[in-house]
Amino acid sequence: MREMGIRQKLLNFFVKRKLFSALFTVLILESVFAAIFIYKFGPQNFANKTRNEEENIGGLPPIQTQNTFAFPIDQFKERITKKPFGIYITPQNSPISPERFTGYHTGVDVEYQDITSDVPVYAIADGKIVLSETASGYGGVFMAEIGIDGKPHNVLYGHIRPSSLPKTGQEFKKGEKLALLGTGFSKETDNERKHLHFAVLSDTRDDIKGYVQNKSELSGWIDPLVYFESRQGRTKNKLSLGGYSAS
Ligand SMILES: [Zn+2]
Repeated sequence: MREMGIRQKLLNFFVKRKLFSALFTVLILESVFAAIFIYKFGPQNFANKTRNEEENIGGLPPIQTQNTFAFPIDQFKERITKKPFGIYITPQNSPISPERFTGYHTGVDVEYQDITSDVPVYAIADGKIVLSETASGYGGVFMAEIGIDGKPHNVLYGHIRPSSLPKTGQEFKKGEKLALLGTGFSKETDNERKHLHFAVLSDTRDDIKGYVQNKSELSGWIDPLVYFESRQGRTKNKLSLGGYSAS
């Protein structure tokens, strides 16, 4: 009986020790993790990180070769709801009905059918007007030559009110109001809905095509959103829909 008692005590002692050592190990590990966490994400480092992030948002990144742009029209990105750049349109698959065009879309369509008041379009960068006319499929249309990252490009604005068209040769500054959208389903838009067809050409050629028939031709145009995705934060127009008085 007594022997058993000692054995039992010894057994109890070792079981307790194991429990204690397990608890001790857990405590040590927790302390180590806590120390690592505080070291990595502690209040000081967190403050530094926030400050650095603010600097990135508020200031220009140190890339001097890229220029920044103003939006060509208010709510530019939000209103590209039907025809994005490069979409292959046929009368059968088109989001527009009836559709009279077939081919790859060379620009983006920015939709304003719900806006009855005048909608201005703006210069996305400094430049000059190189073409301004009325044309089949557009109504009023103009092209402007601007510099993008040190290279000259033509940009196209289609479905413009002819009486508001800028003059060929006219120079302008970034953000300047250049014209107004044409009234939907009238001669001003060649009977198209009220929207801006906005395209960026890869060079300065005099090409107003809204659709092309193959992908290699499409490479003569650039998706305008490329210039507004990463550079958006610094390029917002101060104007908003409803505030048309400013230029
Ligand atoms: Zn279009």
